[in-house]
Amino acid sequence: MIQRLHITICGTVQGIGFRPFVYKLAQTMNLPGWIENTPAGVLIEIEGRHQHLEKFILRLQQEKPDKAFIQSIEFSYLDPVGISGFQIQESQSTGKPTALILPDIATCPACLEEVFDPNNRRYLYPFTNCTNCGPRFSIIESLPYDRPNTAMKHFTQCSPCQQEYENPKDRRFHAQPNACSACGPHVELWNLAGDVLADHHHAIQQAVHHLKTGSIVAIKGIGGFQLMVDAQNEDAVQALRQRKHREEKPFALMLPTLETIQQLCSIEPLEERLLCSAEAPIVLLQQIKSPSTLKISASVAPDNPYLGVMLPYSPLHHILSKEANIPLVATSGNRSDEPICISEKEALSRLNQIADFLLVHNRPILRHVDDSIARIILDREQILRRSRGYAPLPVMLSSNIPGVLAVGGQLKNTIAITQGSNVFISQHIGDLETAEATHAFEQVIADFQNMYQIYPQKIISDLHPGYTSTKFAVDSKIPFTKIQHHYAHIASCMAENGLNGSALGICWDGTGLGTDGTIWGGEFLSITEDSFQRFASLRPFPLPGGAKSIKEPKRTAIGMLHQIFQEDLLRQTHLLPHQQFTASDLELLLQILKKKLNSPYTSSMGRLFDAVASIIGLCHEVHFEGQAAMKLEFITDPALTSQTYSLSFSSEIDWQSMILEIIQDQQQEFTLSKIATKFHNTLANLIVEAARQSGEQKIVLSGGCFQNRYLTEQAVEKLRSAGFQPYWHQRIPPNDGGISLGQIYAHLREPHHQNHLDE
Ligand code: ZN
Ligand code: ZN
Ligand code: FE
Repeated sequence: MIQRLHITICGTVQGIGFRPFVYKLAQTMNLPGWIENTPAGVLIEIEGRHQHLEKFILRLQQEKPDKAFIQSIEFSYLDPVGISGFQIQESQSTGKPTALILPDIATCPACLEEVFDPNNRRYLYPFTNCTNCGPRFSIIESLPYDRPNTAMKHFTQCSPCQQEYENPKDRRFHAQPNACSACGPHVELWNLAGDVLADHHHAIQQAVHHLKTGSIVAIKGIGGFQLMVDAQNEDAVQALRQRKHREEKPFALMLPTLETIQQLCSIEPLEERLLCSAEAPIVLLQQIKSPSTLKISASVAPDNPYLGVMLPYSPLHHILSKEANIPLVATSGNRSDEPICISEKEALSRLNQIADFLLVHNRPILRHVDDSIARIILDREQILRRSRGYAPLPVMLSSNIPGVLAVGGQLKNTIAITQGSNVFISQHIGDLETAEATHAFEQVIADFQNMYQIYPQKIISDLHPGYTSTKFAVDSKIPFTKIQHHYAHIASCMAENGLNGSALGICWDGTGLGTDGTIWGGEFLSITEDSFQRFASLRPFPLPGGAKSIKEPKRTAIGMLHQIFQEDLLRQTHLLPHQQFTASDLELLLQILKKKLNSPYTSSMGRLFDAVASIIGLCHEVHFEGQAAMKLEFITDPALTSQTYSLSFSSEIDWQSMILEIIQDQQQEFTLSKIATKFHNTLANLIVEAARQSGEQKIVLSGGCFQNRYLTEQAVEKLRSAGFQPYWHQRIPPNDGGISLGQIYAHLREPHHQNHLDE
């Protein structure tokens, strides 16, 4: 199957023979395509078979000319258009060049060498950087990107630094954050009262000492504070969980080298590329079953076959990591779901119940940028949290769209703003459930408007009137449009896959408000030229206690079982969710359900996963979003069974027979793994059946449920072998982080914009 690989590169790739190099590489590999200069780098498209395109990406980075430096590379697999030959295209010089703000870039090999060279004047200097690497987005105050407009404006360069900065032949020519220990920022170790305990390299050594003796250290990094702890020290990891109120959600790790990661996880070439890339995200890797040389505490990622791992990405992290030479938990410096702290003042007030010490520095962080999360799925990259290394790089649409602001959803919020055909998507802001998060949300909006000097004439929000983001849109006094949540999910996936026209959109997620005022979440949407219709959805079931049931799958299970057994429910004492309630609580639940009090109906697939997890006794309460579904996913094993349950496709998909069969399997003491696998297989088959009945060829998969690897892989494979064209997320998260882009694309698809899209 021929695919088209679309590659956007930012960096030092012009005027150094990069285009001829790409031309030759494509010729050698017999891949048709083209390359073109852009204001910030180059754009490449090539066509070929997947394995050749993958090889091309890897060779592009391994064999590039010495002087070329890639600060950012993003690539997506798209439908082929039948390119022939290879062209070096003329640069597009029309229109004014867009001022791109680059993301923060991981330390380059040349800088790293200097940092660890005892004879270099930057030996062990934690703020070393050059034109090819270092902070960008997190230190820019305003454009143009010049030192007086950055957080470095307070540091006057010493004469050796100034000379580098002025010398066109130097790697630090016009490197805005250029600094050394004589003139630049420095680190300090603080106690919780803000007293300085040590400074410069001593501060790092002391911090390492505290980490090694079980303390929790808050470290001011690139885009905010991280909380670090020795990942091998069970007590310390437990303490961090307790103090951060983060019971079970997995922690990310920072490991000193690729070799250390290999002791814990298996790494494929594409995963290695991601780990070592300038973006340096947290990469989700399969854990090795029983690692022999290195072990980490079980509470780092309880019952999870994957580990979220990253390599050091700033000199401070490199020095600290090398000095410590142990696996470190590196999690966001916040209280549970708040945005991460970026200033010492914030850290002292918000992290004082969590951290024991603070490793800080005097280079201000101007905006919070979390660590990004990515993984490889179906031989492609998929970004699950788009932040450091990626934000605020744009997604390019095929047509211009005048200044529009999309405010996103409620959870995992991001916002987006348009300029020309670019959609600038913000860094991850988080769940808009706290005052801190709301404040951060408003700040990011103001920040993006100021940075890009775009003052939108239109705002797009979700339908849900209760979302913080929707309220902002309503209060803004700027004309606004509302876009249905699940349509926005599908539109985001279409936008990044370059799709227009009709398709079948399958959006499965937690909850979102539907156009009929009920809670949707298990949706099959008929995507038309300019809008959508609800093609099918799950048979609705009640959530007794409303929002409470999101934390307690056992409630959702009772709601679903009540639909089946009605008055008889109390007598079904063999059911596992029942055993989680006292007789009187159960009676109360039944009354609520009968009287339809505070028991909203939903067609949510996320809640169906919750109910099944509780019905088989796997999970009755969750500590974080998606936990029950993750538990179900993690026990699947395709080798166990290819069987399915009865679940037929219709406009209202009735889960009743499937649930009864699941109960039967559970009673007959089938292993939970087998039930979970059968359940996933059933859903993948449902997707194929829906595709058949829709009459569509293009099937678009989006929504939080498609973070489920097994479900996504099964669905894509089955769709492909049935002759359909499946599309899934690559650069934009399948979760609510993608809603802002989807809102913009859905708005663009509306009738009055249609002629633009067809151009
Ligand atoms: Zn560098
Ligand atoms: Zn200096
Ligand atoms: Fe959603």
